[in-house]
Amino acid sequence: MVEGEKKVKKVLFLDRDGIINCVVRNEKYEYDSPQTVEEVSLVNGIEKLIGWSNINKILVVEITNQPAVAKGKITMKVCTEIEDKIDKLLFDKNVHIDKKYICYHHPNGVVPELKIDCDCRKPKPGMLLQAEKDLDIDLKNSVMMGDRDWDVMAGKAAGCKTILYLFNEDSPEKIKFAMESNPDYKVLSMDEALSTIEKIFLCKQ
Ligand SMILES: [Mg+2]
Ligand SMILES: [Zn+2]
Repeated sequence: MVEGEKKVKKVLFLDRDGIINCVVRNEKYEYDSPQTVEEVSLVNGIEKLIGWSNINKILVVEITNQPAVAKGKITMKVCTEIEDKIDKLLFDKNVHIDKKYICYHHPNGVVPELKIDCDCRKPKPGMLLQAEKDLDIDLKNSVMMGDRDWDVMAGKAAGCKTILYLFNEDSPEKIKFAMESNPDYKVLSMDEALSTIEKIFLCKQ
């Protein structure tokens, strides 16, 4: 590192469901997070984004709300197994996530110790701000990428650049809310996401 250069790390913050792993259809035919290990599969092409970041020394940090735990829909054990499966699938593709921040809370949860109005649940930026403390991060030159309005809101609140990933099966309502969050970049494919993060991270400041 050049003398005088700031020792701060750049991060690619990634939402989990719909970005790293595929969302699944629940019994109401709505998109939901996987509820079992068997339902976990990677979003096509996410390994390119993570791999590029790994090679270019950009930390990859997962930032995810998992309120299914507070709501009693899945246990903490199953949630951990799902995370482990994601790690294994990424490992099989020779890429890795450096750190994860998971909010298990929900204000209307049924698990008493998780039924709280916390500071970590997106759209609040709590998990990104915690990562900043833990990892010596330059938030202004970091990126938050997600598929929902609250991902963009959390990223903006933390001062990051934001990428909204839209996929063509999304509900019109979700797309509408997501567009209203006014992200810095909108992408329609993982290839477009990759060229966008290359542009952001490689641009000379
Ligand atoms: Mg998502
Ligand atoms: Zn929380």
